[in-house]
Amino acid sequence: AYDLPDYAVRVLSVLESAGFEAWVVGGWVRDALLGAPSHDVDVTTSAHWRQTASCLRAAGITVHETGTKHGTVTAVVDGHPVEITTYRVEGAYSDLRHPDEVRFVTDVREDLARRDFTINAMAFHPVRGLLDPFGGRDDLARGLIRAVGDPRLRFEEDALRVLRAVRFACRMGFSVEPRTQEALAACAPELAHVARERVGQELDGIIASGRMSWALLHETEVMGEAIPQVAAMADFDQCTPYHIYDVLEHTSHVCAAVEEFGGGMPLPALRWAALLHDVAKPVTFTRDETGRGHFFGHPKVGAVMAESIMRELALPGSLVSSTRMLVRLHDHVVKPTARSMRRTLSKFERACPGEAPSLTFALLDLKRADAVSKAPGAERYVAELDRVTECLRRQIEGGAVYRMKDLPVTGADVIRETGMPPGPAVGAMLGELLSGVINDELPCDREVLLDRMRGKG
Ligand code: ATP
Ligand code: MG
Repeated sequence: AYDLPDYAVRVLSVLESAGFEAWVVGGWVRDALLGAPSHDVDVTTSAHWRQTASCLRAAGITVHETGTKHGTVTAVVDGHPVEITTYRVEGAYSDLRHPDEVRFVTDVREDLARRDFTINAMAFHPVRGLLDPFGGRDDLARGLIRAVGDPRLRFEEDALRVLRAVRFACRMGFSVEPRTQEALAACAPELAHVARERVGQELDGIIASGRMSWALLHETEVMGEAIPQVAAMADFDQCTPYHIYDVLEHTSHVCAAVEEFGGGMPLPALRWAALLHDVAKPVTFTRDETGRGHFFGHPKVGAVMAESIMRELALPGSLVSSTRMLVRLHDHVVKPTARSMRRTLSKFERACPGEAPSLTFALLDLKRADAVSKAPGAERYVAELDRVTECLRRQIEGGAVYRMKDLPVTGADVIRETGMPPGPAVGAMLGELLSGVINDELPCDREVLLDRMRGKG
């Protein structure tokens, strides 16, 4: 099961020939036992980080002092980074976020004991084999996330572990061991004290797993703490004949359906948009005299809410704007016509330059997922969306005109033909021509467009 890469073996042997003890630890060991594609190698050692740095450098290895406050340096061997950390335990956590101090220790078992879950608290050495004092290997086999030590204390020490537990459970399709889950739920409110960007990173990992566990997120109230606006969709009766589920349940179905329609690897923005597409329903709800519910402008409000939720979580700007546009356009009417496709492409192009084709395909996946998750009888609409997708494919292959640079005329033509000075007015004129072509009001023909410029100049 263990196929430790040569560069990692090198690090271990340099440290050990200098008289220290060193092990591979954490994620690499877990993934090797699972047979999952392995990732970075982390090493833990009895050497103080200064000793680690000096003996590796003496062996000609580059070392960066990446986290010396916590005893960590990063060696680069044959281009591969390896994080090496001195055996340590954490001091008191007074603010539930940052260990106040770290204390270096001499026994690797103490170092393993400070780690979060049993599956992450195993060490491996090519000669000494597996060191597994907390039964991580059995938990891997049983598919369990279990805290090392007293779960309540461990989540109280660091509330981020609440989300890490959920992330590992979702990513690996594991359950959370009952006592660990109980403690996790009890500590979920402490997430309020965790930096929002760290919450954002973990949530992004949960969403990117494509296997978000709704039961786990809601029963434990982790979702309520992480994104209260999503939790607010629970039990929200839409009062419409078009939906048989409440908004939250509908949302959970949409999240599952985008995995299918997105071919198992949907864009991250599509997964976020599936989660957030109806987030404005509770706040835009009105009831008419017959008692039926309406949600005027909910995609527009939802787009604003999605953007603010995601910005607050410090997610990358491009992910935020792609998600915002998918939410914004999810109820937008699309038809299997060249014009409809150009219009949609150009909306995405303006907000998310360069990503219009993939986002338009994602929008159609979102619409399909949304349709099949409302009520039975969506087949005809899905068939229409399939025709739209086919049309989009043909339009893109055929070089659809939806960006300024697709026009057969340029800014230089505008300046020459109209005598206009260079400046924003030139772009505005091109924009007008582009919109004429997109909307089938003008042919995409150089002579016609030049003629039109002269008439307007
Ligand atoms: P991933 O595949 O997500 O990188 P990983 O297990 O490598 O998984 P990291 O966040 O890279 O996770 O952390 C490396 C190791 O450090 C973990 O396996 C775990 O032993 C320990 N660790 C990380 N974060 C915490 C934490 N908040 N509390 C306790 N131990 C932690
Ligand atoms: Mg890691």
